[in-house]
Amino acid sequence: MIALVSGGSRGIGKAIVLRLARDGYDIAFCYRSNEEAAEELVKEASEFGTRVTAARCDVSDAADVRDWYARTERELGPVDVAVTSAGITRDRPVILMPEEDWGRVLRTNLDGVYHVCRAAAFSMSKRRNGAIVNLSSVSGIHGNIGQANYAASKAGIIGFTKSLAKECGPRGVRANVVAPGLIATDMVGDMSEAAVERMLKNVALGRAGRPEEVADLVSFLVSDRAAYITGSVFEIHGGGTF
Ligand code: NDP
Repeated sequence: MIALVSGGSRGIGKAIVLRLARDGYDIAFCYRSNEEAAEELVKEASEFGTRVTAARCDVSDAADVRDWYARTERELGPVDVAVTSAGITRDRPVILMPEEDWGRVLRTNLDGVYHVCRAAAFSMSKRRNGAIVNLSSVSGIHGNIGQANYAASKAGIIGFTKSLAKECGPRGVRANVVAPGLIATDMVGDMSEAAVERMLKNVALGRAGRPEEVADLVSFLVSDRAAYITGSVFEIHGGGTF
């Protein structure tokens, strides 16, 4: 079985790479720029005895993603599972938000999901088998101060994935969304302390989630144990009210 993970070099994506390698998948993951982190992860994930490849690929670039996907299928074989974790934030209140920050977040988070899923849906539909999980966020469901661009991209992922599930279900391909709350990764390090504190105050379990806890949910959703689950959104936020 082959799994492809976008944004796999750090954070939640990295935990998903390690979890799926432990589940026995051969893995292809991509990253944008942090080559060192990617190389280390290839070594770490290979210890589970599966094939692991890393590629520099900007998910906002359609041609880049097409090349990466085709190369992966040539090198490893047909992809059974695709997980999109690549994402960025550029937080500012709407009235102060430059067009550049709006565009970059939408192109990476939403266009990036479309690019990966288009390749995946095409290939998986032909083989009438496959599972896709796209990472959204509680911000995409509830909105968040200073994150209008990010929330719009993450809300878009939900509508996109539900549509994809309807289009591809008859062809044996499932597509679901995981929407995390506050998870302890570099991305949270980029948020202001005040924003993190504000979010944690409203989390019933009183702590940020661990990337591995999100990866466990993804591992379940791509497995046959989730064979009747598609077009669904799974929030994972420790009982947060946002
Ligand atoms: P991190 O910032 O820790 O890691 C982001 C990953 O995405 C890195 O591997 C990075 O590569 C890659 N990436 C960024 N831009 C691109 C691009 N244009 N093309 C390819 N890869 C790219 O993020 P998290 O692990 O925290 O977040 C993962 C996903 O989960 C995101 O979609 C995020 O929106 C979502 N999420 C995270 C939450 C959190 O609290 N952490 C909460 C809710 C949702 P590189 O290392 O090269 O920069």
